[in-house]
Amino acid sequence: MIQYLSERFTRALSNFLMKHPDQRYMIKAILEAQKSSEAGLYPIGAVVVDAGGNVLAVGQTVVTVLNDPTAHAEIIAIRNACSVSSDWYLPGCWLYSTLEPCPMCTSAAIWAKMEGIVFGVSHADVPLLKMSKKFARFSWRRIAITSREVVRRSPNTIALIEDFMNSLCKGLLLEENDMPADVST
Ligand SMILES: [Zn+2]
Repeated sequence: MIQYLSERFTRALSNFLMKHPDQRYMIKAILEAQKSSEAGLYPIGAVVVDAGGNVLAVGQTVVTVLNDPTAHAEIIAIRNACSVSSDWYLPGCWLYSTLEPCPMCTSAAIWAKMEGIVFGVSHADVPLLKMSKKFARFSWRRIAITSREVVRRSPNTIALIEDFMNSLCKGLLLEENDMPADVST
């Protein structure tokens, strides 16, 4: 009961103090994606922010480094945030990702009882990514279930903000001559 009230209080405080989406956190995720890209990895970054606005953890997609098919940027960020918090729940926390979380990562945010998810590039853009020469060496396989659908069927409430800072996030995934006109603005 006390834990339940504590979670409710943390969520209420988070909603009062923090306004999401917040560009600062998506920029942090974008910088993480850029670092990952420069290291030859997937150009995807994720960030977990706590109820007070502190960045608890960041993540890059390191499936090839760890030989771990679950090592998506969002999973890494959630695991590290749980480790920092010494808790398996992250009440009041928000997950920011440059790319729409897959069903596994969206589910992980739900299992962690996070407050919300914000992402930049949606599944709808995946055909565009597949045309990009820059990252042609990567597999862009997606399970065709959107974050929205996973959230809709979730046993608990979690906010979802889609296509936030979409042009900048899309710019991470394309070469300059691949970019649609609105990316340069
Ligand atoms: Zn994922």
